[in-house]
Amino acid sequence: MNVADSDDLRSLLIERGCSAASGPREADLLVVNTCSVREHAETRALARIRELSAIKKDTAFLWVTGCMAQRMGDKIIELIPAVDRVIGAKEIDNLETIVDSALQMHSLTVPGEQKYGVSDFVSIMRGCDNYCSYCIVPYVRGHEKSIPVDLLEKAVHRKISRGVKEITFLGQNVNSYNDNGTDFPDLLRRVHCIDGLERIRFTTSHPKDCSEKLISTMASLPKICRHVHLPVQAGSDRVLQMMNRRYTSDQYLQKIDMIRRYLPDADITTDIMVGFPSETEQEFRDTISLVSRACFTNAFMFAYSSREGTEAASMNDDIPRQEKLSRLNRLIELQTGITRKIYENNVGKQLELLITGRQEKRDQLWMGHDKGCKRVLLSCEKAEAGMILNVQAAKSSGMTLICERIP
Ligand code: SF4
Repeated sequence: MNVADSDDLRSLLIERGCSAASGPREADLLVVNTCSVREHAETRALARIRELSAIKKDTAFLWVTGCMAQRMGDKIIELIPAVDRVIGAKEIDNLETIVDSALQMHSLTVPGEQKYGVSDFVSIMRGCDNYCSYCIVPYVRGHEKSIPVDLLEKAVHRKISRGVKEITFLGQNVNSYNDNGTDFPDLLRRVHCIDGLERIRFTTSHPKDCSEKLISTMASLPKICRHVHLPVQAGSDRVLQMMNRRYTSDQYLQKIDMIRRYLPDADITTDIMVGFPSETEQEFRDTISLVSRACFTNAFMFAYSSREGTEAASMNDDIPRQEKLSRLNRLIELQTGITRKIYENNVGKQLELLITGRQEKRDQLWMGHDKGCKRVLLSCEKAEAGMILNVQAAKSSGMTLICERIP
């Protein structure tokens, strides 16, 4: 989501005649787009803002945008006086007006050209109404708001005309998308008809709203990638309830079974948190058994950290840091083995690869992803970014498939 927001801001600036500086010391405007989801993200953002404030030109402007900007507001300027402007995540819809008035004040108008990759993001909704007890997002991004279908179609057309082949639809919970009765599967169907668009991805799906209509729609539309990111967070029903996730581990596993029924070749990925307040060893083992059963292609795994202002912040954060890290390491070890096995099982198989670029270092192999979410490298003389090729997986290096082109 933050990458997409940064891209939108970059596009707005470039459309208005700015160009990318060669580095922070040369820039007339520096923008730090921040995340608030974990304490570590904020600590890093503040360190980066301090670093930039020390090296920027005296005349340069420094803006802080995003979720930390929303959460902390002008406190950021009190901490780091070199910051000129704080633009919270809830102001993102007014970004155009904010940018226009700011550019009028500072004359930043050197013509520039935006470079696009073959894969790009489109935010289809903002905010979240789920209020998971550990999460700051609903407070900093506000209520769910779906972006109208016709605006999304225009955004996709615009990106295709600039060479984009693959679009990833973004939202905190894409399954809640609703524009006057057009739900998310309907949106997928509408966009699927757009000529020139080769692949459609989306993230994130809340398990409680991941419907049979969505999965059957995916199965019926060939441009939709075979990848579902379905954050589970925990395997214990008591912990899930404390997290306010509104499903049980059994209900979650039923969704996994449904996805595999319609899309047997799909990659399913997830997010998992360990060390939630009061999580017992047995409850952590429930997470371990769910992970063994679900067979995720990959997972983002974290140790719980308390976020001020959330419901969970009032709970006793009683799992010692060492214990959280030990649980996290056990989980990572298990998931790494599963990921490795899934990649190895794909050796010898034929895959559809979208080339997104070329490695700069080492062997200069072509890089991309298969129709799921597996990372692919290809050795091939005649290729270019944006091509879709049939390839065969020759070997696996753990989290990457090394492929050969099928003549
Ligand atoms: S669904 Fe839950 S975890 Fe995801 S953004 Fe909303 S509140 Fe946060």
